[in-house]
Amino acid sequence: TEPLLSVKDLKVSFYTRAGENQAVRGVSLHIDEGETVGIVGESGSGKSVTAKAIMGLISPPGQIIGGEIDFAGQSLVGLTEREWRRLRGNRIAMVFQDPMTSLNPVKKIGDQMTEVIRRHRGLAKEAARKEAIEMLRRVGITRPEQRLDQYPHEFSGGMRQRVMIAMALSCQPELLIADEPTTALDVTIQAQILDLLKQLKANSRMSIVLITHDLGVVAQVCSRVVVMYGGMVMEEGTAEDIFYRPKHPYTQGLLRSLPKRQGGTRERLVPIEGTPPDLLDPPQGCPFRDRCPHAMPKCAELPPHFEVGPGHRALCWLNDEGVQAQLRREPELE
Ligand code: SF4
Ligand code: MG
Repeated sequence: TEPLLSVKDLKVSFYTRAGENQAVRGVSLHIDEGETVGIVGESGSGKSVTAKAIMGLISPPGQIIGGEIDFAGQSLVGLTEREWRRLRGNRIAMVFQDPMTSLNPVKKIGDQMTEVIRRHRGLAKEAARKEAIEMLRRVGITRPEQRLDQYPHEFSGGMRQRVMIAMALSCQPELLIADEPTTALDVTIQAQILDLLKQLKANSRMSIVLITHDLGVVAQVCSRVVVMYGGMVMEEGTAEDIFYRPKHPYTQGLLRSLPKRQGGTRERLVPIEGTPPDLLDPPQGCPFRDRCPHAMPKCAELPPHFEVGPGHRALCWLNDEGVQAQLRREPELE
């Protein structure tokens, strides 16, 4: 069956004074109906730009300069703003890191919610208010009737994010894109929000794309993971592939930098040395080459995506049979 969303060879550039910033350089990925996929990477990896392209939110100086985005059989590249308004917040919804930027500070939460519900579902005022109360209850907000008459600043950060999730879900989207939804929250609240997403997901066929810099967040909710770096997909696989059988040195580095709690002690973190590539002047070969502990002369050439298992691919020469044979003969090459 066709995936709900498929992105093929997407390229997005930002035309700045300093030159062309090639933020996304040929990204392909797909999201099936009902699955939760994590897109992971450091800042500047192109993950948020990819999400914005999927939402039709790339605007000058940014531009989609290549590739295809298909959603439920419809091409999303080149839609008019009017066509986007029919999709966005309706069939595709988004939750951002900072809910304050998406909420109107001088309007009661209830008014904002009922407005969205009325616009998307065509409900009368009373019915929309009932629906808002029901949605707030579903995202774990107690005394929703009273809460509707409060302003955003009267909610805590975690509660505001719950409100945003309620608003996003009130339109019953087929796809929810959450960009760093828990990054601004403390660890306990973060876990509660992730639990909430998992629980809401369990009761629907909705697909979720979770954008994060934190592999730990992905481990809690995602069934599949796409690892991005330097505007490209480095590795893609099931959560098991990524956590137990990583085939890309960047993924392996991310895993080593994850805090582990074992028997009450915290292992020391091993950060990945170095900085991401400059996308104003991107490297021709492997984007991870400057930071990779396994870099070899061959890496001056951009590797293809190697199939390393079913649905598991990695953009790294170490997965090439010829390179593996050569490394066995001349291990010092690596
Ligand atoms: Fe490292 Fe080379 Fe693999 Fe890139 S292609 S990740 S530089 S070994
Ligand atoms: Mg971002």
